[in-house]
Amino acid sequence: MTAVIEEASREAIQSAVDKQKQFYKEGKTKPLDVRKQTLEKLADVIKENEKEILLALKQDLNKSEMETYTTEIGILLEEIRFTLKHIDEWSAPVKVKTAKTHVGSKAYKVPEPYGAALIIAPWNYPLQLALSPIIGAIAAGNTAIIKPSELTPHTSNLITGLIDSHFDPEYITVIEGGVETTQLLLEQYFDYIFFTGSVPVGKVIMEAAAKQLIPVTLELGGKSPCIIDETANVPLAAKRVAFGKVTNAGQTCVAPDYLFIHKEVKEEFIQEFQKAIMGFYGKNPLTNDTYGRIVNERHFNRLTGYLQDGDILTGGSVDHASLKIEPTLMVPKDDTVPVMQDEIFGPIFPLMEYEDLDEVIRFINDRPKPLALYLFTSEDHVSDKVNNSISYGGGCVNDTLMHLATPYLPFGGVGESGIGNYHGESSFAAFSHYKSILKQTTKFDFSFRYPNAKFGLKVLKKLLK
Ligand code: NAD
Repeated sequence: MTAVIEEASREAIQSAVDKQKQFYKEGKTKPLDVRKQTLEKLADVIKENEKEILLALKQDLNKSEMETYTTEIGILLEEIRFTLKHIDEWSAPVKVKTAKTHVGSKAYKVPEPYGAALIIAPWNYPLQLALSPIIGAIAAGNTAIIKPSELTPHTSNLITGLIDSHFDPEYITVIEGGVETTQLLLEQYFDYIFFTGSVPVGKVIMEAAAKQLIPVTLELGGKSPCIIDETANVPLAAKRVAFGKVTNAGQTCVAPDYLFIHKEVKEEFIQEFQKAIMGFYGKNPLTNDTYGRIVNERHFNRLTGYLQDGDILTGGSVDHASLKIEPTLMVPKDDTVPVMQDEIFGPIFPLMEYEDLDEVIRFINDRPKPLALYLFTSEDHVSDKVNNSISYGGGCVNDTLMHLATPYLPFGGVGESGIGNYHGESSFAAFSHYKSILKQTTKFDFSFRYPNAKFGLKVLKKLLK
């Protein structure tokens, strides 16, 4: 069956938002039991509909079962399990110390939900990136409206069906549509906006949010560099880099975008990279049914255009009919060609050889702060140097992608790659306002704080220095 996405009307959006605001005002999202039951139900819905999810992802992106399970289903179930385990602790008020001037009082940080949250998702991990933020939103006690991506219509339709048939729309609902619908949603006064997508659209979202002073999390993208130095375990590095680059056919926000490879290990890397691809998908990845496809023709054409930007070392074949592009290593003509300017978001991997790590660091620091950075080395002083001199969202030493698959690490960008972070406790925190409450004693009252108190200034000068 073909999936259809229609734009939503202003009236439908207004009505959905009004209902959620009312539901929130009535305090229905706040009891911890409700939050827990809702998260448990979400986990059950995902588990019970595994077959439908696998099919939708196959139709939209030709994702294999293994990939859909690990990057869409499993990661959500793990996030829910982790949240349920810690929600009591995260939602409890935290007692903190008070200043010397406040003797007798008690101070607390109390997490409270923002209210009605809007979650806007991209197409590359269309299930995970639509549902993962709602785990935080629900755990923290908010309502949520999800706007899935119109570019992966089967998954968008499925999310709508699953959410609408299992949850009260006043609590969690889905509004499908494209740019027009998102623009209408952005006219509404939400209490929080959580956006995952591209840098240019991130600016549109922040501008709209700024008009109403709505707080935002922006999970964006950009070019994430990878560095392999001469001390790296090259076969393992090549395998892990290839894994990061071919997962979802490179359509991953934290995929290694381009590579700096030390001159001494360049040839070995090229051979090992080819070997790794062969190990994953055989001689001809284009005909391997487990290899993902490009989401649509526009992106396919954009990506194949990059193949003109330099010399192809390995790969380079494409299949228009199935929208597949072979994992491709290339040497770009220079750093001004589009493949070195745009976020690639596909299985094309430009590499540049280097001898001086300082030049690599300068190159990266002359560009917007990356969402991810990957370094392969066996020397701690090299990883210390790179990590102390380059600012980036998050990354790995001697691996790719894996930093985002653990709920113990916050995930997000910095500078142009994003604002805020989530996963695990950070998801709860993203959707919470930490209210500061001071409970003052009435048993005594220091006179020194009041105007013209005897010795008041003298006492204050002793306490506040
Ligand atoms: P996108 O920015 O084009 O679209 C994201 C969402 O915004 C979609 O729901 C879309 O309908 C909506 N949208 C698009 N144009 C809009 C406009 N002009 N006004 C209002 N809304 C609009 O991103 P995409 O192509 O779906 O996803 C790819 C991008 O997302 C890449 O840049 C990638 O790096 C980034 N990304 C980031 C993360 C992360 O966690 N940091 C994860 C996945 C993808």
